[in-house]
Amino acid sequence: MKIKQLSLIIILLLLLAACGGATTESASDGKITAVSTIGMVTDIVENIGGDHVNAIGLMGPGTDPHLYVASAGDVTKLSDADVIFYNGLFLESQMEEVLEQLSENKTVVPITKGLDTAQLLASPDYDDEFDPHVWFYVPFWQEAAIQVRDTLIEIDPDNQADYEANADAYLEELDALHAYVEEQTARVPDAQRVLVTAHDAFSYFGHFYGFDVLGLQGISTESEASTDDVQNLADFIVENQIPAIFIESSVPVRTIEAVQAAVQDQGFDVEIGGELFSDAMGDTGSSAGTYQGMVRHNVDTIVGALLGE
Ligand SMILES: [Zn+2]
Repeated sequence: MKIKQLSLIIILLLLLAACGGATTESASDGKITAVSTIGMVTDIVENIGGDHVNAIGLMGPGTDPHLYVASAGDVTKLSDADVIFYNGLFLESQMEEVLEQLSENKTVVPITKGLDTAQLLASPDYDDEFDPHVWFYVPFWQEAAIQVRDTLIEIDPDNQADYEANADAYLEELDALHAYVEEQTARVPDAQRVLVTAHDAFSYFGHFYGFDVLGLQGISTESEASTDDVQNLADFIVENQIPAIFIESSVPVRTIEAVQAAVQDQGFDVEIGGELFSDAMGDTGSSAGTYQGMVRHNVDTIVGALLGE
């Protein structure tokens, strides 16, 4: 009900903005204005757009994209954009309606649209939806980058050569990143390859890099973990003597602390192995403030804690 009302307000604001004929920044500096949702998408746009694109991200560090509702300011930015990029696969579930409206008269691209659905995992939360957390498998994010490259070339063909060169360099960096993840995760013995986190963001990471992943909440953070969920997870940790569990930047800490307390009640001690960046990157300028930095931080944190380093 509340969401419906908000959506209505947003649509009205959109219509107002459209009638107002707001001017885009691109008119003044000759750049394309690209607005994107999560930081990881904005990161791709910055890397491939380079000097030709003003990349504006809506969701900052610590923001939960599952719950994020576009503000009036966001709607203005979206309305003024030359192109909009978002993750898709129902990640930005509260923005679907706004994005759909906008797609009627501008280029709105879910960057996951080129992925081979046969390789995607099912969402445990929504029927007929895929797990949206595809950035945790680096080759998927390379596909996403290609989608951004091709879209920019389409709307700004004069700068095709630059977009191609930028994309080539970025894709090469992601090749190295993928190799790093494979190399580091290979150090963890099979029996220790269990990743316990607050919500099911790491299924692709687990599936492709060989970890069992247990999340306390479902794939979306919309559902609160129940006491039963906490107890079941605690029992599993004690039974399997799992040394470390992890908190996430975009999910309240108390969920995973409740698990730790339930484990301690059974006389076993589980470490909180550190903070993982699941659905949002770290602060701008920090080591996890880029997509690549975020992936490296997560891998280092997971591997380090599970190996007790
Ligand atoms: Zn998530």
